[in-house]
Amino acid sequence: MTDTAQPSSATDPALLDALREQVQGALPTTIADLSALVRIPSVSWSSFDPANVRASAEAVADLARSTGVFGADDVRIVRSAVEGDTADAATSDAELGQPAVLAVRPARNGKPTVMLYAHHDVQPQGDDALWETPPFEPTLRGDRLYGRGASDDKAGVMTHIASLRAIHAQFGDDLDLGVVLFVEGEEEFGSRSFRTFLREQKEHLAADVIVVADSDNWSVDVPSITVSLRGNVTFKLTLTTLEHASHSGMFGGAAPDAMIPMVRLLASLHDDEGSVAVDGLTSYEADVPERTEAELAVDAALLPGVQPVGRGDVLSRMWFQPSITVTGMDVPSVANASNTLLPTVSARVSVRVAPGQAATDAYRAVERHLREHVPFGARLDISEPDAGDGFLVDTSGWAVQEARTAMAEGWGAQAVEQGIGGSIPFVSDLAAEFPEAQILVTGVEDPDTRAHSPNESQHLGVLHRAIASETILLARLATRS
Ligand SMILES: [Zn+2]
Repeated sequence: MTDTAQPSSATDPALLDALREQVQGALPTTIADLSALVRIPSVSWSSFDPANVRASAEAVADLARSTGVFGADDVRIVRSAVEGDTADAATSDAELGQPAVLAVRPARNGKPTVMLYAHHDVQPQGDDALWETPPFEPTLRGDRLYGRGASDDKAGVMTHIASLRAIHAQFGDDLDLGVVLFVEGEEEFGSRSFRTFLREQKEHLAADVIVVADSDNWSVDVPSITVSLRGNVTFKLTLTTLEHASHSGMFGGAAPDAMIPMVRLLASLHDDEGSVAVDGLTSYEADVPERTEAELAVDAALLPGVQPVGRGDVLSRMWFQPSITVTGMDVPSVANASNTLLPTVSARVSVRVAPGQAATDAYRAVERHLREHVPFGARLDISEPDAGDGFLVDTSGWAVQEARTAMAEGWGAQAVEQGIGGSIPFVSDLAAEFPEAQILVTGVEDPDTRAHSPNESQHLGVLHRAIASETILLARLATRS
């Protein structure tokens, strides 16, 4: 990552002190508000009760009003049609996306506008038995607040709310900075109405700087600016060899079952070192911080003797190279295994796409590879494809410089520019709809957060520092000449 723009100057010390005091003094309220949000089980998946997502949207709208930054009529709950449905079809509940909260304060006197993004929906809690405390009962243990969504992304929501409260306390009605608060309600369910929402609300959403508070930090003491995201492609792969099952003792050795060609085909996706071996999948080239294979083994809980896979710098493998994982298979269970040749086998394949390559190009490359490598003439079907683009943040703009300074002042440590192996496909949608806007991907997570997993938690020191940084950033944007 290159550093082309000039570093910005330090924040005025008196202003800095006042902002820090505001944030610190409000912290108990912020944590109480976060806890109240965590109590709402706002799982956005279609198989869960949508009333909970509505309740969390209402709660976030109330929080937005409480900041004092927005007029009473300028905080709205919005639902948009799910992508692919026509406007006519979008009149019934089933075809609308989950409710988002949108609050707008127009800019004045030539000041910039900032859009603050987070999401108020959460992942399902999974197996209750794996939680040390109930997932929707926020519980403080040590420095961390435990609960589903305590970090991803209700702490992101509260970072925006607490920062806006602090900014309002500091600037009052003299605030000339334009603010768009956009808190989505279905990020964890594929942001299905996101693009419709962007198109319909475009005039309200236009911003010079977009802050996406839904990512990670380097550690609990060192912040990150996320500068790249991998894209993703998933699909269902089915191989069929026989019209029906038959006795493996009678026909085995001559008639091919579907399992062996599936195993061989999946094995062809990687070379002997475990690097992806698919022509047409690209990698991105950039320097990465050092991480040893021994550190990786600890972080990812490798068993003793198990070797990491892939080539090159450890972090480049996770941030900048493609990866392919088989995340599920439809086969008989071991308990139900009988002596038959299986006629058909299906697998769910998940491809992480290097930043810089379009997800649809990656999908075509993998599809071509599979068709060229399928053994024994097995019939190959690919269905349920889904693709989301990765993203490379342009780090040369003034907003990134402002964010670096604000993070250094808010955390007391320089930010690390880091890639993320995961995907936030809506970031590329945002960039496509608002090509002029500078996008900052920040966050409140740390390596121990366990987002999406049992015992998710938010480190409260990180929350404090993230709010301080964002408050300082907003103040710098508000006073930018
Ligand atoms: Zn999230």
